[in-house]
Amino acid sequence: MSVNSFEDLKAHAGHKITCITYGKPAENAAVECETCNEVLLDFDKNKEKERR
Ligand SMILES: [Zn+2]
Repeated sequence: MSVNSFEDLKAHAGHKITCITYGKPAENAAVECETCNEVLLDFDKNKEKERR
């Protein structure tokens, strides 16, 4: 679940966008749209881990 195109991102214009991390210490960082509760972009610290 992520944004891959202009149209995908444009759909979130004006929404509340936030950047959060998951795990302690953080293993994943994500930019999410709080309005849609959707992950726009995320990266894992350890790339060997499977994506959720
Ligand atoms: Zn949105």
